[in-house]
Amino acid sequence: MPGWIIDLDGTMYRGNMPVEGAAQFISQITEAGHPYLYVTNNSSRKPGQVAEHIRRVTGASASAENILTSSQAAARYAAGRKPGASFFAIGEEGLMHALEEAGLVPVREDEVPDFVVQGIDRGFTYDKLAKATRYIHRGAEYLLTNPDRLLPGDGGLLPGAGSVAASLKTASGTEPVVIGKPSPIILNLAVEKLGLPRNDIWVVGDNIETDIAGGVAARCRTALVLTGITRAEQAGELLQQANLKSDLICRDLPDLLLQLSQKH
Ligand SMILES: [Mg+2]
Repeated sequence: MPGWIIDLDGTMYRGNMPVEGAAQFISQITEAGHPYLYVTNNSSRKPGQVAEHIRRVTGASASAENILTSSQAAARYAAGRKPGASFFAIGEEGLMHALEEAGLVPVREDEVPDFVVQGIDRGFTYDKLAKATRYIHRGAEYLLTNPDRLLPGDGGLLPGAGSVAASLKTASGTEPVVIGKPSPIILNLAVEKLGLPRNDIWVVGDNIETDIAGGVAARCRTALVLTGITRAEQAGELLQQANLKSDLICRDLPDLLLQLSQKH
């Protein structure tokens, strides 16, 4: 029985628009009893809010237990390295919530935190950059929720967590530990949660650089869907450039199930 690691933006929905067949795909795998997790690099929302967004936009079933965000994975990583560690965070509600839920504590004004954890922060300021830089210089470990440079917004592309990270990397002279896709850190955690052998797990997504590269690095099966940022006519060339192979290339999620059923 396969398990599924499913990307959200460009795979289940595009912003506030459902991707056709997404809800049908989820009901088919649910009926077949396959476990699944929605795994997202988006660090800004809490898992319950992500689930609510999936249900509202696509009509597919989703609960907080089906969600793994890069904020949760970052918090788990930090708590695993040092239980009860202190942090300084540059991020939004989803990141603060995940860190505190994992038992981590905000740094006190006069101390250096164990971790600087950075995600997307639409209230990013010079003051936050200055604090984080000083903490990293004084020994805090720098974790980055996700490396995405850009994200889709209503009026066009917007800078993502990776763009905020560019300033902090430059100022601190330090490369962060990257948690989100394509890092195996988040995908290994997803594999652990699904509790299945890696070659029974499909990593499904629209982004070759994050979903497919991450799935390959985590030694799972991979399916590229052409409903997001990768256009059909580019897919082959982009995979070749990245020196990656995707087990399947699918028009959309229902096509993925069709191709699988034809294989067996
Ligand atoms: Mg995507």
